Amino acid sequence: MGERKSKVQRFIKAHPKCIFCGGATDATTIEHCPPRALFQSRIAPEGFEFPSCAKCNNYSSDEDLIVAVIVRMGSPKFGDSDGKLKGMMMNLNRQRPDFYKTFLPSAIEARANNRQLGIEPESGQTHQEAGVLNVNDETRLAIRVFAKKLAKGILYKETNLILKNDDCLVLNWFTNANVIRDGGYKVFELLNHINGKSPKVSRANVVLNNQFEYKFSISDDQNLILIQAKFGESFGLVILGSRMPKYLENLLAKIFKDLGADYQPFEILQGEQG
Ligand SMILES: [Zn+2]
Repeated sequence: MGERKSKVQRFIKAHPKCIFCGGATDATTIEHCPPRALFQSRIAPEGFEFPSCAKCNNYSSDEDLIVAVIVRMGSPKFGDSDGKLKGMMMNLNRQRPDFYKTFLPSAIEARANNRQLGIEPESGQTHQEAGVLNVNDETRLAIRVFAKKLAKGILYKETNLILKNDDCLVLNWFTNANVIRDGGYKVFELLNHINGKSPKVSRANVVLNNQFEYKFSISDDQNLILIQAKFGESFGLVILGSRMPKYLENLLAKIFKDLGADYQPFEILQGEQG
């Protein structure tokens, strides 16, 4: 216990403020972001540990579990090589039975979905396990909670900046269903030309980029941030951030008005609305 405690104390001394709630609250714990549950055998990359207050550390555990199931189900090649998916799904069913009922398609729905999308279960896998999850409101909420933490973590890791609560973050995300239906993920393609840093993600020299990779871009004045992240084969996020209140909201509204687009593909995670 002593060793663990002093490790936390040393970390907090070097990183005294919680990075997840605006930078004004003292950190008391270390938060792993992305959470270890997303990684096979909980072997998470080094350097993704962040100072957190107890409240921010605790409030997202159900959401972490939901995102872990999405990531594992979307990556049939290696997503469940540690065999943890079944247990995670049982936990979800126990903790949130009403949610689980609408999250997992019925066997009949799953078979029909998979046929439509051209998904073949691996041997020993059912159609439900191989297939596409129903994205319900709680799934969307879980992804929002996850994305907000991820953006703040990556920003802090890359720049030491802490996002304030009125700084803006907007999100677009995709799963394997989007990739199969649309032949790829258009938002990554649109943003491909923007320069950024795509670091190696590893633990003890084992590269983990096939489980989690990202590209981080930031403007010279450090006011505009772009994070493109991908987990496994088919769950990914694009997060735009601005450290100037209202700037990004207005910019996006203008871009989509100029394009004549009839909908705004980015949802606001935090920042001023309207
Ligand atoms: Zn906090």
